[in-house]
Amino acid sequence: MKKHNFSAGPSILPDFTIKNTAEAVLNFAGTGLSLLEVSHRGKEFVAVMDETRALFKEVLNVPAGYEVVFVGGGASLQFCMVPYNLMNKKAAYLITGEWANKAAKEAKLFGEVVEVASSKDKNFNYIPKGWSVPTDADYLHITTNNTIYGTEIKKDLDVNIPLVADASSDIFSRPMDISKYAIVYGGAQKNLAPAGLTFAIVREDVLGKVERPIPTMLNYKTHMEKESMFNTPPVLPVYAALQTLKWLKQNGGLEVMHKRNNEKAELLYNAIDSSKMFKATVNDAEDRSIMNVCFVMKDEYAELEKEFQAFASSKGMVDIKGHRSVGGFRASIYNAMPIESVKALIDVMNEFTKSH
Ligand SMILES: *Cc1c(COP(=O)(O)O)cnc(C)c1O
Repeated sequence: MKKHNFSAGPSILPDFTIKNTAEAVLNFAGTGLSLLEVSHRGKEFVAVMDETRALFKEVLNVPAGYEVVFVGGGASLQFCMVPYNLMNKKAAYLITGEWANKAAKEAKLFGEVVEVASSKDKNFNYIPKGWSVPTDADYLHITTNNTIYGTEIKKDLDVNIPLVADASSDIFSRPMDISKYAIVYGGAQKNLAPAGLTFAIVREDVLGKVERPIPTMLNYKTHMEKESMFNTPPVLPVYAALQTLKWLKQNGGLEVMHKRNNEKAELLYNAIDSSKMFKATVNDAEDRSIMNVCFVMKDEYAELEKEFQAFASSKGMVDIKGHRSVGGFRASIYNAMPIESVKALIDVMNEFTKSH
C-alpha cells in the first residue's frame, strides 16, 4: 500500500533528496568511500558545503550583506543564540504559539521581554493584529509558521526595529523578502533536510552591538568567518539539504513551490470547510497555514475521532494525529508532498463520512 507521509517533522522529503543521499552514503562523489566516513575538510565535502551555501542564497534570493550559516542544536538553540547576540536590554516577542513561547522564555534570561501580543486566549488559533512594536527594543521576534497550531504569518512584516523570524516550518515554501529581516533561522527537518541541521540567515550589520562576551560556539561571527566549518558540521544533513535545494531549483524555484503549496492547502481547507464531519481549528483564511492544516471532528462526531484515526492509517495516511495541545488531526503538507497525497487524504475523509 502506498504511504502518504503527513508527519509534522522530521517530515517528507523529495525522493530526489533521499535517493541521492542514499547513493552518497554508499559512494560519495566517486571517492569509493561513504559520505559517513570522509573528512569534512576533504575537498569533496568542502565543495558540498560551499555549493549548499551558494544555492541556499540563490533559491531564497538572499541579498548582499547577509551570510547563511549552518550549525547544530536545532531551532531551539537559536532561541538562545538570538538574544545572546542581539539583545542588550529589551526585546519584543509576538506570542503566537508554543515555539514563540519557548523562544521568549530563553530571551528572558538576557533582559526584559515585551510580549507585543498573544493569541493564547483562543488556544493560538489566530494571528494577533493591530499591535505595536516598542521602538526601544533591540529586535522583534516572530514565528512565521506555527507548526503546532496551524497558523502562519504569510507576509514579510514591515517593522521599524530589526526583525527576527523562526521560519523552521515554512522556509522555502514561498518567496521571502529577506531584506526585511535581521535574522531568519530554523531547524532543517521540516522542509529541507533530515534532523541535525540548523540554518541562520544573518544580516552582518546587526552583530557586534552587545556588550557581553559571547561563547565561541554561540557567536554567529564564528560560523560566518569559518564558513560553517569552525567545528565538524552535520555532514549528512548538509548533503541532503543540497539535494533538496537542487530539487527546488529544478522544479522552478519558490514561485512555483508557493503556487503548488497554495493549491494543496486550498484543496484541503475547502474539503474540510464543506465537510459535515470535520472542521478547521483556524477560521480566518488569512491566518491559515499552508504547511500544517489542523482540523478536528465537529462536536456531534467527536466520539469518532479514534475510529477515523485508525481508518485513515489503514488507508496509508501516516502521522495525521494532531499535536496534543490541539487534539484532532494535523496534515503537514510540506513542499515535497504531492497534491495526489492531499487528494488521497480527502478521499479517505469523504469515504469515512459517507459510511457514518
Ligand atoms: C520544530 C520547530 C522548532 C523546534 O526545532 P528543533 O530543531 O527541534 O529545535 C522550533 N520552531 C518551530 C516553528 C518549529 O516548527
